Amino acid sequence: MAKEPRRRRVHVTQVVGEKGHRYEEPVTPPICDFCADIGPAWDYPCESFQVMPPSVRVPFASHENWLACDPCHELIQQAIETGDVDSLIARMTSSFPLRGKELALLRRDMRVIYGEFLARRTGDPEPWG
Ligand SMILES: [Zn+2]
Repeated sequence: MAKEPRRRRVHVTQVVGEKGHRYEEPVTPPICDFCADIGPAWDYPCESFQVMPPSVRVPFASHENWLACDPCHELIQQAIETGDVDSLIARMTSSFPLRGKELALLRRDMRVIYGEFLARRTGDPEPWG
């Protein structure tokens, strides 16, 4: 019998509780792993990986599948065909209040992370939700 893939869900969370008993609770429905929009529609199978973005000293760890909304799905499909993730990065960074060097560093880091995501995919996306 085939193993059912784990359905990962990313939410925006808030820390609640009292000192010593704090935990995170979701404050949104599941979100797109690329642009953080509510309402992902695609599940991209991916193996777990860890990569070191060049601008930070903290490794980025990804655990299995990534969820994508419809617009990000279109951009991912373009990136798979062309190897160019710039449109996907532009969509992701459009919600960040960054400019100049900070924005350039974020784009460089996301190029590494998204490049690794594309290389570690383990199959075609499936409708999600
Ligand atoms: Zn998205």
